Amino acid sequence: MTTESAAAAARATVYGYPRQGPNRELKKAIEGYWKGRVTAGALRATAAELRRANWLQLAGAGIDEVPTGDFSYYDHVLDTTVMVGAIPDRHRDAVAADPLDGYFAMARGTQDVAPLEMTKWFDTNYHYLVPELGPDTVFTADSARQVTELREALGLGLAARPVLVGPVTYLLLAKPAPGAPADFEPLTLLDRLLPVYAEVLADLRAAGAEWVQLDEPALVQDRTPAELSATGRAYRDLGALADRPKLLVASYFDRLGEALPVLAKAPVEGLALDFTEAAAAHLEELAAVGGLPRKRLIAGVVNGRNIWVNDLETSLATLGTLLGLAGRVDVAASCSLLHVPLDTAAERDIEPPILRWLAFARQKTAEIVTLARGLTRGTGAITAELAANRAALASRATSPITRDPAVRARAGAVTDADAHRSQPYAERVTVQRAHLRLPLLPTTTIGSFPQTGELRTARADLREGRIDRAGYEERVRAEIREVISFQERTGLDVLVHGEAERNDMVQYFAEQLTGYLATRHGWVQSYGTRYVRPPILAGDITRPEPMTVRWTAYAQSLTERPVKGMLTGPVTMLAWSFVRDDQPLGDTARQVALALRDEVNDLEAAGTSVIQVDEPALRETLPLRAGDRPAYLAWATEAFRLTTGGVRPGTQIHTHMCYAEFGDIVRAIDDLDADVISLEAARSHMQVARELATHGYPREAGPGVYDIHSPRVPSVREAAELLRTGLKAIPAERLWVNPDCGLKTRGWPETRSALRNLVAAARTVRGEL
Ligand code: GLN
Ligand code: ZN
Repeated sequence: MTTESAAAAARATVYGYPRQGPNRELKKAIEGYWKGRVTAGALRATAAELRRANWLQLAGAGIDEVPTGDFSYYDHVLDTTVMVGAIPDRHRDAVAADPLDGYFAMARGTQDVAPLEMTKWFDTNYHYLVPELGPDTVFTADSARQVTELREALGLGLAARPVLVGPVTYLLLAKPAPGAPADFEPLTLLDRLLPVYAEVLADLRAAGAEWVQLDEPALVQDRTPAELSATGRAYRDLGALADRPKLLVASYFDRLGEALPVLAKAPVEGLALDFTEAAAAHLEELAAVGGLPRKRLIAGVVNGRNIWVNDLETSLATLGTLLGLAGRVDVAASCSLLHVPLDTAAERDIEPPILRWLAFARQKTAEIVTLARGLTRGTGAITAELAANRAALASRATSPITRDPAVRARAGAVTDADAHRSQPYAERVTVQRAHLRLPLLPTTTIGSFPQTGELRTARADLREGRIDRAGYEERVRAEIREVISFQERTGLDVLVHGEAERNDMVQYFAEQLTGYLATRHGWVQSYGTRYVRPPILAGDITRPEPMTVRWTAYAQSLTERPVKGMLTGPVTMLAWSFVRDDQPLGDTARQVALALRDEVNDLEAAGTSVIQVDEPALRETLPLRAGDRPAYLAWATEAFRLTTGGVRPGTQIHTHMCYAEFGDIVRAIDDLDADVISLEAARSHMQVARELATHGYPREAGPGVYDIHSPRVPSVREAAELLRTGLKAIPAERLWVNPDCGLKTRGWPETRSALRNLVAAARTVRGEL
């Protein structure tokens, strides 16, 4: 061991912290700024105060090195775009005129200019703004924000480490700019980008940074040899710079795999690795490269994206092993704490014994500090923490909440037949046609109708006790009457009840299933100023009573036309929640599936002949590494089939997914054995229909002909044109007519016009068949 000794005190650190503030002050300030109620100066002051409070809190809790530059007004990838000067041409004037307004224009668009595309940050529920790069992109360094935030933290007398998105990940996350060749590979811009990073590093060094962290999560995905060699080149070049801080390359969300030897060899001073996902494999990989004897290793042993208390003894054992493998070992969360809520102490409705099972950002910080102390001074220095931790883990492991014998017996008795319908699709389809007697090109919607201000008020009134349950339910029924009558008048073929009773498609069910916990303040950033409160899958899942049947049955009692039952599928119920870490995901999915299966069967018994089970998250939870995907798809599709496998052949099962690219999972979608699928397609001109056709998808499908993400009303001509395009890929007997997704974010006026046009388009095209 050369420069650093293993006996040095282990340092506690994190890569990022929730940005919003304890009461979502940042959201309020930004939205206030957008509405003109908060000045730019006031917004900046709020932001600076939130950063300061976070740093002081982290330092006060014992974090030795705080992150800087992890703060953002909207998204840290967009901030990186600004840092490297890759402003899209269409935004240049706005950014030049006013950097802050130009920034928000890139994030959200304006009346005239489209925003950057937004997409999911790896397999989390955070969304980033996709950089647009082309052969003409010129990078220029703008380190101002990073330097300012570093100075702020240093000014508080803290040891601070700027965190940047690494150059390789930045390029791999980008897409070809409009006008660039579609097959343009942004990674080819690496040599142009590196000098800009060099400049930023030099600026940070000059401002006092000892270390700078470069985040390279893209390296935990399968990478080509060319990408790996570009990575090697990038860090050779940055490492060779004369005037630079020490470099820490951080990876998270999975193991590094083939990228580990590349980074181990690179002339950088530190690596940060995730030891929560695939920890054992990661340790083996590390041993196989001979460890990192001359590097600082930051061990992400506290899960940064789930909310369970850490198993401190297991983490200490991992850290102990790592001591033998690296020049110096420090302790961190596996990734930025951006992905978890702030503080369990805010949760007054969760019983204290259960609250002790949970760790949000604040509690995780304490765990990291405890682990660093235990690593440096031995377990004797943390006996009280270890005892409390052991007690919390034992209480969770033995609780009747996490172990319900009846649920376990039922899940254990599931047979292959349970996960299969009694007749194959080809036979069911005849029974269903005879039974439903729908026209060709049947029209329907995806489920939700506009969530009006009155509905939200009604829910708030119920919560605050201003109306009672009966009063609330009458308001929901009134809405259902309105929605049904509108659909009848408009001439839709398969109706929906409109989901007026649902606050959210996951939370609504989570609140009714035992085993799920809801939080009051557990906000997590989804994108920009949008925060979600994912429920927590804490225990074994049961459905004490039917969840949707009376609403669907009520809607059906108002009309002769079929009303489609509407449920959220098991994979989505997991994907948009915090999941159990004490059993395989597939086991949790199976429990949720069995609860939903009862709901599906009850809907059928109540006379529902069409039932939709939404799985918009099926693709987004696809594992990052291809090798892990078959196992995931196996349990995911089984859970869907278990949910829907108990109905009669004549009952038509629909599913819905809201994305346009999914060529890689068409097989899995077929494995769901649903009868009808609806998908997003309007913006991509029915691309989805062609993909289904290319893959020989044999079932009925409704590629959306109405883009519900925009208030724009499609004309009859436009919708008809999309249908004709769809017909080139999918025969009329199997083509449905529907919007891209639910209408809950739309207003009534545009919804009315758009659905009228959609029905008119279906009639027009039927007339041409
Ligand atoms: N049925 C849901 C709705 O219409 C589906 C939402 C979704 O796909 N995200 O709102
Ligand atoms: Zn959707």
